Amino acid sequence: MRVAIAGAGLAGLSCAKYLTDGGHTPLILERRDVLGGKVAAWKDADGDWYETGLHIFFGAYPNMLQLFKELGIEDRLQWKEHAMIFNQPEIPGTYSRFDFPNLPAPINGVIAILRNNDMLTWGEKISFAKGLIPAMLQGQKYVEEMDKYSWSEWMKRQNIPVRVEKEVFIAMSKALNFINPDEISATIILTALNRFLQEKNGSKMAFLDGSPTERLCEPLVDYITKRGGEVRLNAPLKEFLLDPAGHVSGFSIRGDNGATDEVVTADAYVSAMPVDPLKTMLPTPWKQMEFFQKLEGLEGVPVINLHLWFDRKLTEIDHLLFSRSPLLSVYADMSNTCRGYADPDRSMLELVLAPAKDWISKSDREIVDATLAELEKLFPQHFGSENPAQLLKSHVVKTPRSVYKATPGREQYRPSQQTPISNFYLTGDYTKQRYLASMEGAVLSGKLTAQAIIAAARA
Ligand SMILES: Cc1cc2nc3c(=O)[nH]c(=O)nc-3n(C[C@H](O)[C@H](O)[C@H](O)COP(=O)(O)OP(=O)(O)OC[C@H]3O[C@@H](n4cnc5c(N)ncnc54)[C@H](O)[C@@H]3O)c2cc1C
Repeated sequence: MRVAIAGAGLAGLSCAKYLTDGGHTPLILERRDVLGGKVAAWKDADGDWYETGLHIFFGAYPNMLQLFKELGIEDRLQWKEHAMIFNQPEIPGTYSRFDFPNLPAPINGVIAILRNNDMLTWGEKISFAKGLIPAMLQGQKYVEEMDKYSWSEWMKRQNIPVRVEKEVFIAMSKALNFINPDEISATIILTALNRFLQEKNGSKMAFLDGSPTERLCEPLVDYITKRGGEVRLNAPLKEFLLDPAGHVSGFSIRGDNGATDEVVTADAYVSAMPVDPLKTMLPTPWKQMEFFQKLEGLEGVPVINLHLWFDRKLTEIDHLLFSRSPLLSVYADMSNTCRGYADPDRSMLELVLAPAKDWISKSDREIVDATLAELEKLFPQHFGSENPAQLLKSHVVKTPRSVYKATPGREQYRPSQQTPISNFYLTGDYTKQRYLASMEGAVLSGKLTAQAIIAAARA
């Protein structure tokens, strides 16, 4: 069966990969001239890569890890020691660590929390543990029911001191969805905590050894094309064409550089676009259907990814860092963490700026200047001195609508991969699957969509 897929992000690529495994022939049509969507990356004139986002792979990503195995590229994941490292704003230039010993879950997580006395007092740890008891006893059902509360509301209901939120969960909430605890749904944080506490290596982190476009998306394309599939860049879906019965009869693809539009036909059709462009493209008859109307409840959240190259090493830490800065979320010195970007003499910091709603329309210069002011606090030893670190160059990548904003009540709007249109499917991190809007969620959604198409073809 020939399947047309609009979008070459991880979901579209994963869907195509698993369709070829099932003996089908996918044709991916990607709007841009680069693979990967939210993991896309570009090379600048000096040959340095810059990326849409600083991307971390977790031990709790079974479908992603399976995909690496199936592609034969597992050695490209650079696993870091099992720890979470936070900056301590009150003692600039110092770090607080949660180190997970090599013991089964949840003992390793409990020991990691108990051993850290910089961030939480014993009383705070105990009241947090007590607050988690319903989630531990009732599991996923409880976690999903808590979607009606923000994380701040949930903590208040569980009588957990506000300081716990400030110390740990502002950083976690910004890392998971680029928003603060008073906005994020409690389901998101509880889901992550569940994975991290229930799976021994759930919170263990890996960096890819180079750009995701080259090191992950290209092997996927090779796999797909070797099995008869095709991936076309610069091929934007302009319109879903419908037959009189309301099924999709073709994808209208906008012609490149004034060329006429092209109609691509297939046996089944998949949208692997993010939810925001999909919503703008729904054919009129679909707008009357509850299934598609629900998409209105989902909207991408803004985020900014910065790359700063310095004239010296700012840190030797080979790990992700939670900045605990009001402006920034997580960051890493990629010259330490990523083989492909390694530099023994100079740092390249990749930093996520979130929440970004007040910054997304500002100039790159303003964003870089504000970030440098934050770095003076994080690395006082390198900026306060007579010979301060010099910024050699920078790249700023803005994503005005990234993953869907996971505020309370969003779960009910996430659609299944199957739609009321029998030959039309959805895939993407926002569709219903048990992982958050993440790379794992995107890969799993692609697999679920492929499974649904394969099952329908067999029926
Ligand atoms: C700054 C940042 C940091 C992140 N950090 C992490 C992390 O550490 N760990 C993690 O797991 N996840 C992280 N994520 C989330 C992760 O990147 C996404 O969840 C995932 O990549 C989404 O994949 P997707 O295929 O669902 O969507 P997308 O990647 O958005 O792919 C959709 C594709 O559709 C294409 N498209 C759009 N319109 C059209 C059209 N008209 N015709 C054809 N194609 C079209 C787009 O160009 C794009 O290629 C991060 C995201 C960002 C932005």
